[in-house]
Order: sequence, then structure tokens, then C-alpha cells
Amino acid sequence: MKIRTRFAPSPTGLLHIGGIRTALFSWLYAKHHKGQFILRIEDTDRERSTDEAVQVILDGMAWLGLDHDEGPFYQTQRFGRYKEVINELLENGHAYRCICSKVRLDKIRDEAMSRGDKPRYDGLCRSLNLTDENAVIRFKNPTDGDVVVSDQVQGDVIFENSELDDLIIARSDGSPTYNLTVVVDDMDMGITEVIRGDDHLNNTPRQINIFNALGAKAPNYAHIPMILSPEGKKLSKRDGAASVLQYRDDGILPEALLNYLVRLGWSKGDQEIFSIDEMVSAFDIKDVNKSASSINPDKLLWLNQHYIKNAENKLLLKPLTDLFLLMNINIENGPEIEDLIDIQKQRTETLKEMAEQSTFFYNDFEEYDANAAKKHLRPVILEPLKQLYDSLKSLETWDNDNIKSAIEKTANDLEIKMGKLAQPLRVAVTGAGVSPSIDDTLRLLGQDKTLKRLRKGIEFIENRSSS
Ligand code: GLU
Repeated sequence: MKIRTRFAPSPTGLLHIGGIRTALFSWLYAKHHKGQFILRIEDTDRERSTDEAVQVILDGMAWLGLDHDEGPFYQTQRFGRYKEVINELLENGHAYRCICSKVRLDKIRDEAMSRGDKPRYDGLCRSLNLTDENAVIRFKNPTDGDVVVSDQVQGDVIFENSELDDLIIARSDGSPTYNLTVVVDDMDMGITEVIRGDDHLNNTPRQINIFNALGAKAPNYAHIPMILSPEGKKLSKRDGAASVLQYRDDGILPEALLNYLVRLGWSKGDQEIFSIDEMVSAFDIKDVNKSASSINPDKLLWLNQHYIKNAENKLLLKPLTDLFLLMNINIENGPEIEDLIDIQKQRTETLKEMAEQSTFFYNDFEEYDANAAKKHLRPVILEPLKQLYDSLKSLETWDNDNIKSAIEKTANDLEIKMGKLAQPLRVAVTGAGVSPSIDDTLRLLGQDKTLKRLRKGIEFIENRSSS
């Protein structure tokens, strides 16, 4: 049988890394088995679903390359089908109408709680054959026996039917509830494996009972543990519960994020680096840990640096250009992005850092970094910088060799160390004390900008010494 998995997020909050890891595991499972991966947006909660959250799901999945073979399907477009199934369940005696008031239900709940029991509906309307149109509809859960969830991660988990009450499958306005819609969809879409967060484990026996009532085979299940904060607590927005697209805007590469997420709770020996192809061929849901894993932001940065260093320049072109756009930097005013990548890619952990450390190529800076200026733009360096200015100005070909020898020659002539000249030069042309090698920096900056900024640096020292 062809394997079919799905990712079924509810767009009630912005998709974050917990959801993405679930999506990744489902996607890998499908790819590993040469099956199909389906995207389904569970947007039946109309009050809490937002268009923005739907867009983050679509953009986030596309950014990460987690492509779907079918969908996206929207549950709000399937209400007719849910109604049909609810009617079928009513007709076959697997569901019934219930008119118990909120007051009565509250009373049953309070009584159960005070006895220390789990609150559950007592089934009063179960045999009344009510026909009220605006009643809620409940599923007639079997009253005895048990349901074994043979979970691929958790092992066999057994639920007694006596513990499960008759859940509401349609509200009084006729709208279907989660456990019903998920079963109808998983059935209609031919899903063979459901991989989802373990917060859904308790829903599973109920869903299996509905499958049975519909005469359909329930899929296999795998419930994966939560992702926790580094302190072992629920993820907060600060630790990654914000939109997954924040990672893109922070300069993380999709490959790095996927590699990071696949290792949260899954391992193969002690291998840390997995290309997408390697993940697809090695992934086995049975190797997913039963216990929750904590995020480790340093590891994500380490992986990201690895992927930046090893990426082909052309793969970094678009994401880096997008970040410059986001920062409102006009890249027409400076070096080609590919040349920039060449000299920066060994130096930064994120593309955002790369962009930030390269803005001086495109924008003139207003002020020098105060410490760097204090340390390096001092009167003693005034004459050497002037001499260097002339020497750089006279260069006919602006390339690394010529730039380097101009600096070396000036340093030699004045009997100062190369670094003692290069560092003030760097501060003068970049505004700060850190940049790629000085010859690369000057080459990409271009002769005009270099001379203009060096002239400004010289004037800065002159003004400083005269004030
Ligand atoms: N829509 C559910 C959620 O976002 C997931 C349902 C499922 O995977 O069965 O939590």
C-alpha cells in the first residue's frame, strides 16, 4: 500500500518550530517510503483562525522546501462532507442528539470532580432517540472493552472505553468538532500514517472508535514528544515559539533549520550533519525518542555556520539579497552580492550577521565605532595615512595584489608594522575594527569610496588633534 502522511496544522497561532518538526517527520516518512505527503489546514475554528497564520504555514513550508503532493485542503471547504458523515453516524445508530443543558453538564462535572473522578458525560440522552434540530450530536462511544493504540513512538497504549465518554461531534449550530473532522479527512484522504504531537494521544482512542463506526481502517499513529525550552519548560516566543519565518529573517538557512530539527528527538548513531537526502534515507520514526527534547540555540548557529561555509555562493544569493532589502539597504550602491559572499561566508554564523557586517560597503556611515576610533584614528598615524592615500590613489589597477603592496610599501617606508597601518585604514573605510582581510575589503569597496573615506578619516584625525 502506498504510504500517505499529512501535516494538519490549525492556523490559530503562527506556525513555529514545534509544528515544523512534526511536518518534517511526516514529510520524511513519506519521502523515505516513496509515498505522498498531504497538507491540510484545519481551520474550522473560525474565531481563532487567521489569514496571517495560514500564510505563515504556506510560506514557511515553501521556504523549507517541505513540498506537498496534495493540498492544501481547507476543512472549512468540507463542511458538506462532514454533515454527510454525521448523518450517516446518526442513521446507523452510532451517534445521537443530546439536549442536556449547560447547567446539567456543569453539575455532573462538579459532582465527578468532588468525588475525585474524571468528568464525563453520563449518557442521559443516549437512548432517547431525540430529533431536536438544534441539539448537539454525540458519538456513541462503545461502553466496554478497550482501544489499543499501537503507537510507533510510544509503543502500545491502552485506553479503557469506560474511561471515554460520548464526545460531541457536532455543535448545536451544526458545526463539526475536531475529532470528527480529523477522522473524516484522514479517511477520505487515504492517510496511512498519522504523525503528530503527543498532546493528541488522548484523542486517538476516540478517533479509532469513530473509524470503526464508519467501517474504515484507522491509520497507524506516531505521537512525538514536545520540544521544550533549554530550561526544560514549555517553549516561549523568545525560544522559538514565534513564527518559523523569524528564522529566515534572522538569517538561518532552511537546510540548517531542518538539520537542527531532525536531530531534536531523533538520531542515527552520533551523526550530526544530515543533508536532506541523507535524512530521507536514514529517517525511521521508530528511532524517535519517547521523551521530550530541549532546544539548543548554539547548536542551530553552529549548524547554520556549517551550511553557510559549505554552500555554493549562488544558493546564498537570494536569501542574502532579501535580508538587505528587509534592512532597506540599496545594494546597487556597492559590490556584487556574490563577491561579498565570497569574502564573508567563512566569517559569519548567520546571513543576517553577514548582511549587518557588510552594510558599510553600500551605505556611508555617520560615525566611527567610538572604541575603534579612539584606539586607531590617532595623530601618530596621520602622516602614514596621508602617504597611503597617495599611494592608493596612484594605483591604476584596483586588485588585491596592488592594494596589498601599496599598504606594505607605505608601512616599510615608514618603518611601521603592517598591522599598525592596516587597522587605522580599516577603521577609516569601514567605520569599525572588524572586516574581512584589508585587501579584500578595499577591493570590494572600490577605489573611489576607499579614497573618499580615507580622506574623511584623515580629516577626522586632523580635527581631533586641533580641537
Ligand atoms: N490540527 C491539529 C493541531 O494543529 C492537529 C491535528 C492532527 O494532526 O491530527 O494541533
